[in-house]
Order: sequence, then structure tokens, then C-alpha cells
Amino acid sequence: MSADLSALRQQLWRHYRSLEGFLRTMTSQGPLTPGSFYLLKRKCGKPSCRCARGQFHAVWVLTRSESGQHKLYSVPPEQRAEVRQRAAAWRRYQRARARLLRQVSALVTLADQIAESQRVDWPP
Ligand SMILES: [Zn+2]
Repeated sequence: MSADLSALRQQLWRHYRSLEGFLRTMTSQGPLTPGSFYLLKRKCGKPSCRCARGQFHAVWVLTRSESGQHKLYSVPPEQRAEVRQRAAAWRRYQRARARLLRQVSALVTLADQIAESQRVDWPP
């Protein structure tokens, strides 16, 4: 077995072992709420309002895309802690999911390289 092939195999199994961590992260988040939770600062448009002088209105919101539409929900004070936590869990889930997909894609590439290095065409 060539040194290259051995290195490829080692890389392959290293990538494979990292999948478990991503799957654990994805399945251990508890309640998830899709969306981004943040403090939105904006102007109401009235020329006499304080916001016209730079003191913007601030509201905690949850935003997300629903069937291609950008949606924005204001979050009442008594629900902020909960929504913040669940939106953070959603973000962690999504990050782990993106990493898992990259890792799986890298695994397939490595397996293809290993197969290619052992390929014997027939008829010769
Ligand atoms: Zn205003």
C-alpha cells in the first residue's frame, strides 16, 4: 500500500470520527425556534419624534424566511428569554448541520480518491 493511500485512509477515518460530535450537537439542543433573535432599532417616520433625532425605537424581534417571505415578529418581554434561548439552539443546530454536510462531502471526496488510486480499468 502506498504512503499516499495510507494517508488518505487515515484522513478518511479522522473525518468519519468527527461526524459523531456534529450529530450529538444536532440532536441535543432541546426546543428549537427557527429564526434570528435580535434588538431592532428603527425610525417610525414621524418628523417630530425623538427617533428623527437619532434616538431610535428599539424592539426585540424574531426574523425568519417563510416560503421565501421575510417575516418579522416582535417578541413580548415575558417571552424574550425563552425565544432567545430557542433561537440560539436553532443557530447551533444549523451550524453543526452545515459542518456535518461539509464533513460528509469531504468523506465522499476522500473515498473517491482512495477508489481512484486503486482503480484498475478493464479491459486494459
Ligand atoms: Zn419615532
